[in-house]
Amino acid sequence: MPEAVLAISAAAAVAAAGWKLGALDRDGAIAATAVGGCVLGFGGWGPAVLLVLFFVSASGLSALPGGKGPKSRGHRNARQVLANGSAAALAAVATGAWNGWALALAGALAAATADTWATEIGVRSGATPRSILTLEPRRAGTSGAVSWPGTLASAAGAAAIGAVSAWLIPEIGIAGGAAVAAAGVAGSLVDSLLGASLQAVYRCPACGATPEVSNHLGCPARARRTAGVPGLDNDAVNWLATVVGALGTWGLGRL
Ligand SMILES: [Zn+2]
Repeated sequence: MPEAVLAISAAAAVAAAGWKLGALDRDGAIAATAVGGCVLGFGGWGPAVLLVLFFVSASGLSALPGGKGPKSRGHRNARQVLANGSAAALAAVATGAWNGWALALAGALAAATADTWATEIGVRSGATPRSILTLEPRRAGTSGAVSWPGTLASAAGAAAIGAVSAWLIPEIGIAGGAAVAAAGVAGSLVDSLLGASLQAVYRCPACGATPEVSNHLGCPARARRTAGVPGLDNDAVNWLATVVGALGTWGLGRL
């Protein structure tokens, strides 16, 4: 029980710092405390370092100037936090019941990191993103659009999580770290493929914005879906990408 209190306190301290610095809104900080408490409490320090690496790098890149795309925004809310972190938290909770938990946890965070680095660096690179399916030019920050700088950033993010996981988590090792990196890139790829195909597209009748989710910043109206699968918004796609990262790493780890 003291360990649980320590884990939740440490997670709350990091989340509160994120809230104070503007990386999370209040509900996002509560969600981050839950995710961090699970990852640290059940998974231990190695997984917690991976989570902090994701959170600090994502928040830091988001705070850099030049992020104008609809996906690049500060104040991550609870839905965004859970989209990126809940698969890792679930894997941590499975410690003891499932020997693939560490690979799955690292793979989920690798996919989240790959996608976030790709987005944040891609929108700032000045490179014209193209639809991953049709190769037509797209506005920077559009879901399903990829650029060379963003793709390299995606690989770097997945590789960073893979390397640190191999170093800090004994269950993973060198071969596991390579699986983490590969599945992280695969998760980011699935994110782009879904973003270019099935992801819901919204348009706000009040302000004309084309946000990635129905509720959008600075406008009381809700945007309406004009295409794509109902409910499959950017957060849902991000979550699916972390699941691909988790299960992909676990599958590669079994080879
Ligand atoms: Zn609006």
